[in-house]
Amino acid sequence: MLSIFGSGIGRGIAIGKAYVLRQSDIEAPQYTIEKSDVNKEVKRLRQAVVATKAKYQKLLKDLPKTAPRESAAFIDAHMLMLSDPLLIDGAIKIIKSDSINAEYALIKQSQDLIKVFEQMQDAYLREKRVDVRHVTNRVLRSLMGIVAHSLDEVHDDELKGKIVISQDLTPAETMFVREQKIVAFVTDLGSQISHTAIVARSLKMPAVVGLHGATKYINDDDMLIVDGLRGAVLINPSESILKEYRKRLSKIRAREKYLTTLTRRIAKTKDGKTIRLMANVETSKELGAVKKSNAAGIGLYRTEYLFMNREQAPTEQEQFRAYKKIVTGVEKPVIIRTLDIGGDKRLDFNYPNKKSSESPLGLRAVRLCLNHIEVFKPQLRAILRASAFGKVSIMIPMISNVDEVDQVLTLIKQTKTELRSEGIEYDKRVKIGGMIEVPAAAIMADVFAQKLDFLSIGTNDLIQYTLAIDRVDDAVNYLYDPIHPAVLQLIKLVIRAGKKASIPVSLCGEMAGNVKYTRLLLALGLRHFSMDANYVLDVKEQILSVDTEQLKRAGESIIRADSPIQARIKLEKLNEFPLI
Ligand code: PEP
Ligand code: MG
Repeated sequence: MLSIFGSGIGRGIAIGKAYVLRQSDIEAPQYTIEKSDVNKEVKRLRQAVVATKAKYQKLLKDLPKTAPRESAAFIDAHMLMLSDPLLIDGAIKIIKSDSINAEYALIKQSQDLIKVFEQMQDAYLREKRVDVRHVTNRVLRSLMGIVAHSLDEVHDDELKGKIVISQDLTPAETMFVREQKIVAFVTDLGSQISHTAIVARSLKMPAVVGLHGATKYINDDDMLIVDGLRGAVLINPSESILKEYRKRLSKIRAREKYLTTLTRRIAKTKDGKTIRLMANVETSKELGAVKKSNAAGIGLYRTEYLFMNREQAPTEQEQFRAYKKIVTGVEKPVIIRTLDIGGDKRLDFNYPNKKSSESPLGLRAVRLCLNHIEVFKPQLRAILRASAFGKVSIMIPMISNVDEVDQVLTLIKQTKTELRSEGIEYDKRVKIGGMIEVPAAAIMADVFAQKLDFLSIGTNDLIQYTLAIDRVDDAVNYLYDPIHPAVLQLIKLVIRAGKKASIPVSLCGEMAGNVKYTRLLLALGLRHFSMDANYVLDVKEQILSVDTEQLKRAGESIIRADSPIQARIKLEKLNEFPLI
């Protein structure tokens, strides 16, 4: 047995067989052939095309009913490309003219086509190069007799019950994993705070990331234990270890059962302070978990996930339908965050300033929206329209100066006027809040609190920007520290600003759902939390056990710690302190 360690995600355990995803670019053999072998090679290519078409047809047939409509369109587009003379007939011509093997000819033709698409003015046509690459890879695999080893090419039952091992997974791919009934994943790269990790938590899927060497040490069909809590992956464990882990699994289930006894309890501290616990969601698929947790509503709806794994942005109407589904589904207040594209949240299609948005310091989130009203406006209209069906608030991500807030407020006002003149209903009292994720905004929280109806602290980004570390770069992940005193001082500033302006302040970063920080956040005066629905009851358990008055001094002392290690020791003491 071999054990390897990385950053653990979730607190669950998965036991299953490995499925190793290799890089999607294939090393295909390239050689010249005898003239007499040309027909044989053409035949081989044609057979591979037929086999690939059959595989696509099976994919279409097996597509789950819950799969987004775009999945079928995606497969249709690839089938069409297979029948397009440009790709396959082009490759056949090359086999004949250059006397080279089918793989080599296909790669040559594909590269030429990609070059042509890359030069297209039209963004939609430019994106066709991605289709060419996918289709070429599929035919190559068929020619070489290798199984699909790239997530976007595996749609069928191959992954069911498996543990996926890959170099990295994007948040979009992780959403895709949802459909595949994968039980866990393990990656060489990545950090605990990336959006990939956030999605995994929402799926209740244990994972270990930043494992360096996972793809090297693990082979297809190795038996694995993935321990999300300890960040460990055990390869081909002995029977006794498996037995021990099965015991741990049943303990986890027993604890989950116990936690459900708290579902109906009000989240009130020993000294009578009622704490508002809300849920973070990425899609309507999480509504079941939200209801089960009895959260007070949705404190963060990450709308950008609606834009992932598709070839075009959703229309206003499609967005409206999605938002309405959440609002009517949860039947409690919902805070809809406007588009927070960028950073590691990448989209498949082209949009203005895409490259800049992919940098954590680039034109992302509200910056992108304000620079491209044509992207922002349909979303604002859709959210306002959905507000007619429940209690909706709008939340602006990544604000860094008040001009941005003023611009958004003006745009919302204009949008309301437009809707009114069109006779479309919306809630006139929609509240508008902002996310405090940039240190500048935290320092000036007082000013923002004057302009907005509520604030929400996005600690995932606030920590990244305060400590100057990219949240997805596992090389600097060791510096990512939610209890760095500088971070805690900023959190406190924001809570104080909210109190002064008499507006609610919530915290919706991953810190809110980590029971390690519940007492500390209460000590800093936080009364509104929003987290993954799967953690609401754990946090509630903590809340029920504490007296906020008794916590205050310890909280102050952690804020004043000189070093991260000092802060950690003090936090451990705070968490051990018996308060019940
Ligand atoms: C945050 O930054 O804390 C946050 C909640 O937003 P996201 O994780 O989507 O960036
Ligand atoms: Mg953020």
